[in-house]
Amino acid sequence: CGIVGAVSARNIVPILVEGLKRLEYRGYDSCGVAVHQDGALRRARSTSRVAELQAQAGEDGIASGTGIAHTRWATHGVPAVRNAHPHFSHGPNAAEGAPGRVALVHNGIIENHDELRAELQARGYVFHSQTDTEVICHLVDSLYDGDLLDAVQQAVGRLHGAYAIAVFHRDEPQRVVGAREGSPLVLGVGEGEAFLASDAMALAGVTDQICYLEEGDVVDLQLGKHWITHKSEAGRFEQVTREVKTVHAHSGAAE
Ligand code: GLU
Repeated sequence: CGIVGAVSARNIVPILVEGLKRLEYRGYDSCGVAVHQDGALRRARSTSRVAELQAQAGEDGIASGTGIAHTRWATHGVPAVRNAHPHFSHGPNAAEGAPGRVALVHNGIIENHDELRAELQARGYVFHSQTDTEVICHLVDSLYDGDLLDAVQQAVGRLHGAYAIAVFHRDEPQRVVGAREGSPLVLGVGEGEAFLASDAMALAGVTDQICYLEEGDVVDLQLGKHWITHKSEAGRFEQVTREVKTVHAHSGAAE
């Protein structure tokens, strides 16, 4: 339903939560936030309101410059905390309580989730939710070889359906990668920081410099830098340039 993500030198949890609040009117059954903190993945999830999630994150001391957040409108799996995003992958054959490696949020529907789940289960991945989304998270983990952009570019090649995703990895503390196909996603460009959102409105008051990603784009966010990539006709991802527009915060309309 709603996505917000950020890479910054400042604590972005208040920005993620405020972004979710701005998307609340669209409706949702659960919400969550995950960050990269002290070398580990941390998250809070709730089937209550975003204000409750905010309180929970505050009590748990969740704070970081790198994170993603989500409001969920369930399509696969009942509304429940275990099905709320962000989802984590702990890697194949992970022991109980093993640290998370990949955190991911998703809007949309993955049509071939059964096939991908069976394939990943055969490789030792244990599923903790009933969602179609969790397959993307383990798929990215299974394809990760030190470069999150590369893993996501490969992963989206296996997905059928509609998606906007935002994902980060434990081994790359200041990096968030996003991708879209059939669901909206924008890049927000700040001073030395970068953001992702399913709607520019979520970033009102944070940045008015918005880039509307195109179908098939995969975007790499790092501290004060971003790259947008798109698959060429030759089947390779290449860097592309997209226009950054000044967007009025209140309406979300481009100037
Ligand atoms: N299909 C996903 C789920 O059910 C994402 C739903 C959404 O767009 O919020 O968890």
